[in-house]
Amino acid sequence: MQYQSLFLKYKEYDMKTLTCDVCHSIIYVPVTGRNYFHLAHRDICESCHDKLEFQMKPIVRTKSPFNYNWYAKLVRDSVEKAIQKGKVEVK
Ligand SMILES: [Zn+2]
Repeated sequence: MQYQSLFLKYKEYDMKTLTCDVCHSIIYVPVTGRNYFHLAHRDICESCHDKLEFQMKPIVRTKSPFNYNWYAKLVRDSVEKAIQKGKVEVK
């Protein structure tokens, strides 16, 4: 079996790419803040990040005055919920 070579190939591959924790798509050549986002200690692809922003925007708008701890919790909760569902649900 070429298990060994496959494994080495995978490791090499793994170093240059990241997997989105939500949709599990592979992020090739991740660039932070462009096609890759680190949110709530999770790796998020651009597509999921866009949907998360879209999902959170109306909630954030209703919060006045803005509170950072509240926002951090909202991000954390939204990311965890998306990971559980395997996608970001946008109504
Ligand atoms: Zn994703």
